Amino acid sequence: MAKRNKDQGRPIPQPKACIMLADDDPDILSLLDVTLSQAGYAIKTARDGAEAISLLPNGAIQVAIVDISMPGMSGLDLCRTLWEQHGIEVILLTGHSERYSYTDAVRSGAYDFVVKPPDMAELILRVERALEARRVRIERDRTLKELQRLSTTDSTTGLFNSRHLFQRLKSELARSHRHGHPLSLLLLDIDDFKGHNDSHGHQAGDEALRYLADVLRRVSRESDSAYRYGGDEFTIILPETNAASSLILAERLLEEVSTSELPTPGGDVATLTVSVGIAQWCKGEDMHALLKRADLAMYESKASGRNRASVAEPPDPEDLEAAEP
Ligand code: GH3
Ligand code: MG
Repeated sequence: MAKRNKDQGRPIPQPKACIMLADDDPDILSLLDVTLSQAGYAIKTARDGAEAISLLPNGAIQVAIVDISMPGMSGLDLCRTLWEQHGIEVILLTGHSERYSYTDAVRSGAYDFVVKPPDMAELILRVERALEARRVRIERDRTLKELQRLSTTDSTTGLFNSRHLFQRLKSELARSHRHGHPLSLLLLDIDDFKGHNDSHGHQAGDEALRYLADVLRRVSRESDSAYRYGGDEFTIILPETNAASSLILAERLLEEVSTSELPTPGGDVATLTVSVGIAQWCKGEDMHALLKRADLAMYESKASGRNRASVAEPPDPEDLEAAEP
């Protein structure tokens, strides 16, 4: 909200944006300062690159107007730092006689390039364009980030989805191959989930999926990653983990799930169990073969009574290749 001026009770307008001016010529610096302040901008001034850098932590600087020729750090280097490391749009100022070109400016990441002495009305317009470009860039980056999140996330549980599983598993296997470290895959499927849906309704089924996702997040370490693989199937990638350690985690998981009571819309409580399959990756095995072994181990748990974990047999050495997965 705008502050009020005590004497007149009129609101003091908020500055439109914060602009940094960096120039070793005091006359230019003061001309730009006065003009842009009158145009409604908050201004920070610096007489060289080092001073400009020292201002960065204190101000939410959005656009910088930078002289190309300054003592110490050059304007082009300052421009590169402001743009690449701080995401600040830069308008470079150059003298008529200077040897710098528009190409030099653009290569340093400059948004715009102005020859001195600047026409003030034109410079204000260029500042407005730079601010608009910044707004559009930030909005675009936010949208891309959100799209990236949506494309890798399962909307019911918030866990990663199977598309992301394949990407991540491929890179984790390549890493294990390079460093010779173990990796295990844990795959689980809810027991009689159809019955749970039939008894308590689809919404309660979705709640159960979310509950299970929370358990998977809780039992996983930071380096592990959990995924909703399909309907009522989930996986966890366990880097740096052999089958024996994965089995300990699976036992914790089975205990936690089977002893929890889930509220249902009907007012009673329901319990769930899951069947788990574990496969430890073997050098030369590709991700599809690893998933298949984990799946077979999970079916073994189903076949031998459910609510249990089974470890897959190692693959047949003849099926393994020396190549990177
Ligand atoms: P089993 O012990 O053999 O695994 O029996 P099951 O009933 O769990 O059989 P299966 O795994 O084949 O069935 C999966 C069920 O999961 C069928 C489907 O109704 C339910 N399901 C799949 N996706 C969703 C979902 O997004 N929400 C809900 N509520 N149910 C789902
Ligand atoms: Mg099931």
